[in-house]
Amino acid sequence: MQVIQSLSAWKELRPQLTGALGLIPTMGALHEGHLALMRRAREENEIAVLWIFVNPKQFAEDADFGSYPRVMEEDLRLAGECGMDYVLAPGAREVYPEDFQTYVEVEQLSQPLEGAHRAGHFRGVATVVAKMLCLTQPQRAYFGQKDAQQTLVVKRMVEDLGMLTEIVVCPTVRDQDGLALSSRNARLSPRERKAALVLYRALKDVETALRCGERDCEVLRGRMRDILGREPRAEVEYVSIADPNTLAECATVAGPVLASLAVQIGDTRLIDNLQIEPRG
Ligand code: AMP
Repeated sequence: MQVIQSLSAWKELRPQLTGALGLIPTMGALHEGHLALMRRAREENEIAVLWIFVNPKQFAEDADFGSYPRVMEEDLRLAGECGMDYVLAPGAREVYPEDFQTYVEVEQLSQPLEGAHRAGHFRGVATVVAKMLCLTQPQRAYFGQKDAQQTLVVKRMVEDLGMLTEIVVCPTVRDQDGLALSSRNARLSPRERKAALVLYRALKDVETALRCGERDCEVLRGRMRDILGREPRAEVEYVSIADPNTLAECATVAGPVLASLAVQIGDTRLIDNLQIEPRG
């Protein structure tokens, strides 16, 4: 496995590589969710490239960026175990030199949910993903359903700009008790870790209610808010029952919906979602 920090070194190397390249974009602090993406990319491509870059342009707050977990040595060990051929880990000045001035905006899909609560977030995401797709020219790039809106934004960008990469979305990996794995979970105290289970409980409740025939989305959102409201450590940012393709909020359930939420547990902001198919 080769670790490359210099983008000019990578630009020299890339034309020499042949065969399908699978790219896994991450911000590091790898966990089983990332490992699942790496394993799949390893299986499906001749060359597997892990991208590790804590992207300053997708953080609304400096404090969140500053405290994002960074554990490069352990990440490299895990990348090696998953059979990565290359780890691209450029510095911020490499990705965004001083004269950097080009941005990508996916106008509508970036607006609701995460976009409404994290100013500029998806502009930062789309810009860095566009840059890494240009640099690596992957056949496939792997993303997690955990960040559902991100997958929609990236797919839209790829379609709109005529990029040739296939976007592969992999299921959310959870701990046994249901908590979605996230690099941010490392910041939770044991008590907060327990409180964080309320996110999955709220989503599973929507699933149960929907399967029992509830079709009124305001009722479903209310149920989520009730469950979250009973956890004193949880501060709700949003709950949503939306169309899984457009992210428009639904009034009644007529097909598959994306139930999603963002909740602050102590100082840690967590998101989760479930795509739910109503029965009958
Ligand atoms: P991050 O390092 O958090 O930016 O995540 C990098 C990629 O891993 C994104 O495509 C995420 O959606 C994905 N990912 C993060 N957590 C999970 C998880 N629990 N299950 C599956 N994919 C995940």
